[in-house]
Amino acid sequence: MIRRHANDPKTAAMNASGSREMNEAFNLFLRISEQEKALLAQYRRILETDSGSFVESFYAYLLAFPITANVLQHYQEAGGELSWLAATQSAHFQTLLSGCTDEPSAVQLIHIGRIHFQYNIEPVWIMGSYRLYLDHLRQVIANQPHIAPDKQYALESVLIKLLFRDMGLMLEGYWHSATSLAQVEQNRAEKLQGQVNDLLTNLPQVLWSVDVKNNQLIYISPGARNICTRDTEMPIPCMGWTHPDDRETVRLAWEEALLGNRVEVESRVQADGEPTRWFRRVFHPFLNDEGGVVRIDGLMDDTTESRESVERLHLLATTDSLTTLPNRALFYDRFNQALTVAKRERNKQVALILLDMDHFKEINDTLGHPAGDEILRQVAQRLRCVLRDSDTLARLGGDEFAILLPDVQDGKAAAEKVAKNIRDCFVEPFWFLKNELYLGVGIGISIYPEHGDNADVLMSRADVAMYGAKHRDVGFLFYDPETDPHTQERLQLSSDLRHALERDEFVLYYQPKIDIRSGCMIGVEALIRWNHPTHGLIFPDQFIPFAENTGLINPITDWVLRTAIMQCKAWQAAGGELRIAVNVTAHSFQDPRFVDKLETLLCDAGSCLAPDRIEIEITENILMAEIEHGAKAIGRLRDLGVSVAIDDFGTGYSSLAYLKKLPIHMIKIDKSFVMNMTEDDNDAVIVRSMIDLAHNLGYLVVAEGVENQDSLDLLDLLGCDQVQGYHISHPLSADELTLWINYSAWPIGGKI
Ligand code: C2E
Ligand code: CA
Ligand code: CA
Repeated sequence: MIRRHANDPKTAAMNASGSREMNEAFNLFLRISEQEKALLAQYRRILETDSGSFVESFYAYLLAFPITANVLQHYQEAGGELSWLAATQSAHFQTLLSGCTDEPSAVQLIHIGRIHFQYNIEPVWIMGSYRLYLDHLRQVIANQPHIAPDKQYALESVLIKLLFRDMGLMLEGYWHSATSLAQVEQNRAEKLQGQVNDLLTNLPQVLWSVDVKNNQLIYISPGARNICTRDTEMPIPCMGWTHPDDRETVRLAWEEALLGNRVEVESRVQADGEPTRWFRRVFHPFLNDEGGVVRIDGLMDDTTESRESVERLHLLATTDSLTTLPNRALFYDRFNQALTVAKRERNKQVALILLDMDHFKEINDTLGHPAGDEILRQVAQRLRCVLRDSDTLARLGGDEFAILLPDVQDGKAAAEKVAKNIRDCFVEPFWFLKNELYLGVGIGISIYPEHGDNADVLMSRADVAMYGAKHRDVGFLFYDPETDPHTQERLQLSSDLRHALERDEFVLYYQPKIDIRSGCMIGVEALIRWNHPTHGLIFPDQFIPFAENTGLINPITDWVLRTAIMQCKAWQAAGGELRIAVNVTAHSFQDPRFVDKLETLLCDAGSCLAPDRIEIEITENILMAEIEHGAKAIGRLRDLGVSVAIDDFGTGYSSLAYLKKLPIHMIKIDKSFVMNMTEDDNDAVIVRSMIDLAHNLGYLVVAEGVENQDSLDLLDLLGCDQVQGYHISHPLSADELTLWINYSAWPIGGKI
């Protein structure tokens, strides 16, 4: 038999040249000579005798074996005839006895071999039948007297060669069919494997499988090299390049998988000189019948991009893009977390600070949105500097910022400190191109647990406090239920306030002002009160903020001015030369018609009051917020002859140096400094420097809140010009004032 490799393409199909070569090879090896063929031809007839009975006994023999009987039965069931088979077999043996060794006979034998393969007739049966036939021929030779004894051996020899040739070529046919079928199967398997390999190479994931008993890699997909260029490590690929901080996590996950659990773990991987990437590994254990883990299949993929996009989305969802500060959503998150911790730890407090810039809208309106954006960034930057790392600063939207001080022992003290620092952040001007911008800020504070126990309540209360701080022009305020307009009582009050003017429920009280040098009373400050039908006398701190919120402040200011001017005229008529100071809030002062209105009121009801009888008190924050407008309005008042005082001086964040640009007449040092100055050296120093500075700038200085003789003496010593306070007199009604003047130690040089 000629050996061929299974993958030799010639074996796939036996072509014409193949069968020719094969035949030549067989003839060459068997050497069947012409004499031998002649010998065979001589005895052929004799050898053919009884061939019919041989075929019959041959089939009887085949049917006696269950396996061959089975094959024949299937043949018959498929429509084959045994008689036809026997006839074919006889014909075959006759052809063999013809001694023909040409190529067509070889082709025919190879073909028969293929048929045997198709019918599943195994080589052993083929060889068996040849053996039987050889036995039969030997018997014929031995028993036939016509065959000369000296020819018997030669005849047997040529028959054996022919039988070899016949059987060999048939088996070649059989073998070719078998190998070509195997080749087809192999080609199909190789093609499939190629497709699977392509698929695994192109997959962005790496798949692998590990025999955990022997710690041997069973398989790893070709794409592994794309991810980990280093040699595959066992049993966890890429472990060597896993970030040292993450290795333990991956190792623990593997151990978990060894216990039979499916695990997913993400870790950083960094190859030499490459950026850090994130990988997800999935370990999928396989158990044997006893429940032991025998194999772990793994999947690994690069999650850097999806992780980055998740992080980007998270950042977008939690960050204010303008300032890069946390946004409202993240702030609420942290706030709730801080409250949960504080509730658990019982003695902990949480402080919430809200701040909102004054008149920020005007920056946008006058300088454009890029200016507004730039200022907000600068504000964020300054605020960052005054906070600790554990505090959260967020931009809630617009010009509103929030600060969370989690986990503090004394919320009030901590918040007050921060609020003061924040105020200091706004002392220096902000810059946009060449524009110098002074910004005011309102700060409201609420504290857990004192002002509420959930984020929403604390937020709205800090908001109330913030509006209070803005309206009262104080730097910051803690939430105070007393002034919360949202309580039921407050809501009722604000509705009553709407009718207070029509019902003529407001009254002015007057607090005397004394000139220290002469000891004479030189004027009064008009202070409003609301004579409520059920609540009695209500003080301005309790309703002025409402009036500002509801737009009622302008008519009230008009009423105050009209009443004060009328009163002043009445005193004048009675011979009392008194000046009257009127408080004007930001809202009213910023009304463009304010100066015109005042001018009209001075000459109202048939008589005119000299403008120098009137002083307007405004807080410094009003000016800071709208410096342009403020300077213009003060200039016009000055031209008119009305003087302007800066009230509550020292509580805001302006500097005297800055105020010097404004044509004001006097400053009123806030009572908080004056009231304590005899006990607190700091306050005394502050008052002294305020007086000196104001005098250097040419302003008069008034001290309010003088509650005792010591303060009065000290102020006198420090060179203060005027004083006002309970020590001289509480604010008085007009009638009370008339009485007071007549009997007081501070004369006005005339009676009224
Ligand atoms: P302000 O302008 O600082 O007025 C001085 C406040 O200090 C007055 O309170 C006065 O009663 C109080 N005061 C005077 N002397 C002393 C003292 O020796 N010790 C202490 N502790 N306090 C003293 P009042 O009348 O309750 O007014 C509170 C605030 O309400 C005023 O502060 C002013 O900002 C505002 N206000 C009062 N009247 C008017 C008004 O007609 N219009 C406007 N827009 N605001 C007004
Ligand atoms: Ca005042
Ligand atoms: Ca004041």
